[in-house]
Amino acid sequence: MATINLSVKYRPVRIGFLVRDQVIDDVVKAAGLSTLLCGGIRNPIIPVGTNRSAADYLIQLFSVDVLVAVSQSAEIKALMDANPFLRSPHDYGNGIFHEDWHTKKNVPAYVDIINIVDLWWEKEIRHKAEDFKSNCVLVRWMPEDPIAHVFAVQFGYYPTEHDLLGDFNQAFVRGLKAKEMTISLNGHVDEALTTHITPIKFTGLELDAHNGWRRDGGIYVGDEDNFADLVTFWNLRASGSGLFFFPKKQMVRFKRLLEEYFSELDRRKPANLNLMDSVAVCYLDGSESEALDICNTFKTTKPKALTLVHEVGGIAVPRPAEYYYDAQQTLANVDQAYGRPVVTLGLPNKLFLSPRGYPNDRQHLVVSLDFHSELDFPNHTLKPPFLRQLNEFYSREVAFDPWTIRVERQGLAYITDCGDASIRVYPLPHQKLIETVFEAAGVKTRMSQPGLLADQIIKSMRETAPLEACRVFKVRGVRKLFRELSEDAAIKWNDALRVIGTEQFSRFKDLYIESRDHRDLEPGDVLTFLIKKRILRPRLNFLERVLRRRQLFKCRGCGLGSNLLMATFESAWVCPFCRLNQFLPEYIGVVFNNKAMWRFQKSGLFAKDNNQEGAVPVVLSLLAFARILDPLVYSTALDFPLEKNSESDLCVLQYHFGEDVEIGIGECKSDGGRITEAKVCNLKTVRGKLQGFGLETYLVFARTTDAFSPEEIELFRGLVGERVPVILFTNGELEPYDPYWRSVDKGLPLRHPLTLADMARNSEVLYLRANS
Ligand SMILES: [Zn+2]
Repeated sequence: MATINLSVKYRPVRIGFLVRDQVIDDVVKAAGLSTLLCGGIRNPIIPVGTNRSAADYLIQLFSVDVLVAVSQSAEIKALMDANPFLRSPHDYGNGIFHEDWHTKKNVPAYVDIINIVDLWWEKEIRHKAEDFKSNCVLVRWMPEDPIAHVFAVQFGYYPTEHDLLGDFNQAFVRGLKAKEMTISLNGHVDEALTTHITPIKFTGLELDAHNGWRRDGGIYVGDEDNFADLVTFWNLRASGSGLFFFPKKQMVRFKRLLEEYFSELDRRKPANLNLMDSVAVCYLDGSESEALDICNTFKTTKPKALTLVHEVGGIAVPRPAEYYYDAQQTLANVDQAYGRPVVTLGLPNKLFLSPRGYPNDRQHLVVSLDFHSELDFPNHTLKPPFLRQLNEFYSREVAFDPWTIRVERQGLAYITDCGDASIRVYPLPHQKLIETVFEAAGVKTRMSQPGLLADQIIKSMRETAPLEACRVFKVRGVRKLFRELSEDAAIKWNDALRVIGTEQFSRFKDLYIESRDHRDLEPGDVLTFLIKKRILRPRLNFLERVLRRRQLFKCRGCGLGSNLLMATFESAWVCPFCRLNQFLPEYIGVVFNNKAMWRFQKSGLFAKDNNQEGAVPVVLSLLAFARILDPLVYSTALDFPLEKNSESDLCVLQYHFGEDVEIGIGECKSDGGRITEAKVCNLKTVRGKLQGFGLETYLVFARTTDAFSPEEIELFRGLVGERVPVILFTNGELEPYDPYWRSVDKGLPLRHPLTLADMARNSEVLYLRANS
């Protein structure tokens, strides 16, 4: 069992409230529901009309965790059906509530603000004087006020129609010693509201913004009865900008407030000293002259940034910031269960919640998991690609529950209950991840026979980091030995050393294959390693066998000597003194001064003369990728049975750098092989489908020779001409430890590439320039 470190961040569940397009009442309802919930101000409102593109865009943009319908319509039902993986973890028939078992009253199913009120009461408020009033203000207005829905959206309110267990109005007023303020019908709006904490603002307290776009302050100019204005304003604010809505036809009621607000923005210190501090004046097309009027009428010392918000399907919002409560470090245990790794972690205390008093144990919140290292579950990951279409798959694999996991840019989000003290997650196998990514793009795939063989060769090398043990195949003489030694032939020790040592061996003297007591790698080290990995098998000569010759061997455990039959060195042996089991063939090199009585044969996965179905060039290409991509998510050969029976000799996935998920598929050949146009065509078909799904796909071509043939180069030039990026490897990249070590002086565009795109740029310069 291993213990690992990870960072954990809590945040509220990000709910996308679905409203009917052009129905302002729905927007007002969504504002009321959001006011009840922690993080409510950050929940987007998603209009659903006959054209669904705006809704799809907002769901994607805000990385919505859960969709909740405020009203019912055929379009909303269709949208819910199209996003089954965004259902609530427990499907509540009544929106965001579940029923309290005792009282039969409704309680929000997501962490609500009474938790934060209670915490503030305990920490700050209860010790204050009787007549103390905090900076919080509960705003009321007349229901018949013509701009009532602007107030609802701007200040938030606690809805009364849901038969709630908690009295939110009372909690806010008493628990926070809040002021109360009523806006009279058509009366002016009190300027104190610019600085006070209103119920909707209160939902965002304690949350810190990460990444994304965030603007400190500004105004939004629009119409009180314009659906698009209300929703755009709400979503801009949800994305992180501190905006105030000004109904342009009601300016008289807001004049004093606006003056006060602008001078307050003027006094505000900038959040980031490196950025120009300005006051945003946002508007949709059609409100430009009013926005301009405001800019001219009201003076500020900071410049005003007149911002036309472009409509994308009716809604325009920059990429929202991500909001979290504090980040904490925690420890997790890695174990094995059901034949795969399982990670159990204790959840740190939720310091932002009241520790007592309110039945919040069953309320949901999100814990974001960011694992710093995945070395303790090799070939598995808990940082899968940011493909939200795979949420259900991630959920089933990682949590054994289809609704609990949401993928995030930095890792995984787990929807948990406030009362949970620990969670278990099952890291995803790389192979299954790759197959699922292909399937989502409409490409059916499975590991092929050569793929299985290559995979087995890698796994047989050792238990930890087996791919790295395959470095021995970089040695050119080793590849020659396999090629020249036929399946029933045997080779003498010295002949094997000669084959290994002659093919430019000096290039490999720095290669690390396992720990050694001398500086430079020697052919004997390589040969011993091959024997140790059971790729070569020793056979004793007939004469020594029948004569029952013996050899002294000192046990590697206890050091006591035994006089063993030479034939014992063909396999494992248990020391009679210390019971240590030892694989004796690996000691032939050091124990026998004269090795003339030994012959060596290819064995195991290397026994057959089938060129190991091309596994060695695949393994070497994966090793080259391993130096660039960290962690390396790969598969050996894949079949695409439905794509004209095409296949790829390997597949790698890169998604840790840049915004895109990158995929590499391709052909890897040894000396005799040839990369043909037909194969390339098939790969292009598969690439087309992956590209269509939004996966940047690169074609990888590798050959364990010093150069590609002129025909192959022409083929690659043709691909690049068609804007198909290629990654090319020959011995120059496959043999050194780092693929670009030998080409430092060849004008590489990127000495330290991080992505497949970077590698494709390098390949183009190395192989496809006119003079290369
Ligand atoms: Zn012993």
